[in-house]
Amino acid sequence: MLGCYTRQPTEFSRTIYTQLASVLTRNVSTTSCVSRAEPQPVDHYRADPSDQLSATEPLRSQPRWLRELGIVRSDWTRDEVNEVFQTPLLDLVFHAATAHRMHHNPHMVQRCTLLSIKTGGCPENCKYCAQSSSWSKEVGLKAEKLMDADDVYQAAVRAKESGSTRFCMGAAWRGPSQVGGRQWERVLEMVRRVRGLGMEVCTTLGMLTPEQARQLREAGLSAYNHNLDTSPEYYSQITTSRKYEDRLVTLEAVREAGISVCAGGIIGLGEGPSDRVGLLHQLATLPTHPESVPINALVAVAGTPLGKEGLETPTGFDMARCIAAARVVMPKAMVRLSAGRLSLTPSDQAMCFMAGANSIFDGDKLLTTANNDRNEDLEMFDQLGLTSRPAFMPYVGGNTSTGEQEHGAAAALDAAAAELAASTHPQALQAPTGGCCQTQGECGCQ
Ligand code: SF4
Repeated sequence: MLGCYTRQPTEFSRTIYTQLASVLTRNVSTTSCVSRAEPQPVDHYRADPSDQLSATEPLRSQPRWLRELGIVRSDWTRDEVNEVFQTPLLDLVFHAATAHRMHHNPHMVQRCTLLSIKTGGCPENCKYCAQSSSWSKEVGLKAEKLMDADDVYQAAVRAKESGSTRFCMGAAWRGPSQVGGRQWERVLEMVRRVRGLGMEVCTTLGMLTPEQARQLREAGLSAYNHNLDTSPEYYSQITTSRKYEDRLVTLEAVREAGISVCAGGIIGLGEGPSDRVGLLHQLATLPTHPESVPINALVAVAGTPLGKEGLETPTGFDMARCIAAARVVMPKAMVRLSAGRLSLTPSDQAMCFMAGANSIFDGDKLLTTANNDRNEDLEMFDQLGLTSRPAFMPYVGGNTSTGEQEHGAAAALDAAAAELAASTHPQALQAPTGGCCQTQGECGCQ
């Protein structure tokens, strides 16, 4: 069945499309039958004229993002991303769920484990972070040394045994350049050993030079996390010890080294909706989309500047909206429901999965903050019919649409237009390409 999502996209997309067409057409004809048989009640509940108009609106008059739903694009305008983001929530989730099913198995959610391999004492001053040395006294967090490679390996073994397929290691550094060669070599050893377990390996170590990225790649690193956090214009409210541009330079070095890119952001930093749009716009207009997009909710830590401000905790609806918009503008990426799940109910999380989230962090800790109970997560998976995504399944994210793909999508649109003449929800077809997974061909995928 998996092949339906990754290897036979055209047929799969057509199946989805046909099913949608049949459901929507059925709904339209059912309404017509009822209105002929029982005119009075239907008259009484007659839909708003604007709804009637949209039900027969020609396919081509829909906005481009809806006509081309599921197509990978890097030419998003900020207005377009804003329009996606501002779509009424249930409509947005519906469209995101449709795009999600064009490229991913919607029942599979990856479980990842995050370990802080070097905690505290960071010279950067991210206002949300408990690990910055700028407010270590207020937070009460002492700087620790880089963990021993054996201890990290054992933690990875435990994570794998409990069902995680991706192991992420974070160090509170400005970047590896601030540490000596011995520590750097130890990190590379950690990467090699964890990778030897058959897990996907991700690190988040701050700013990288191209040479450091190359060394990580040689050690077997699957992915590098480097979040953009928020919009370019709000960034200086969050961090002043580096610039937005620095983040983009590191992302470029990671991409150039052939490591898959993990980049997302945090909501609840005091930013406005336009900053959330700005973040998604930045990510979706990178020359190649990140394969992985974590969407975090701020976990406010007492003693940090943002812990003192009494900011509103993002709601489940806030998270679902960001995830759905990310899924629509970066349809092939893994969208990761990351920090902040403790404040979400299982129903909130279910909405996020429906909106296209296909990864969580499990385990009781995320770097320095608490996380959900693993058994409760497994129960939630059970209730929702979710299964754990295996390691090294092909990651189709990151590929930009080719002209050929877009031509194919346009042709499919024309064919579908006839099928969906009475539909209210035209869906563009995308023929997702295979695309290599993070092993860059080592696993044999294409
Ligand atoms: S978020 Fe990362 S870079 Fe920023 S202070 Fe914390 S550990 Fe340092």
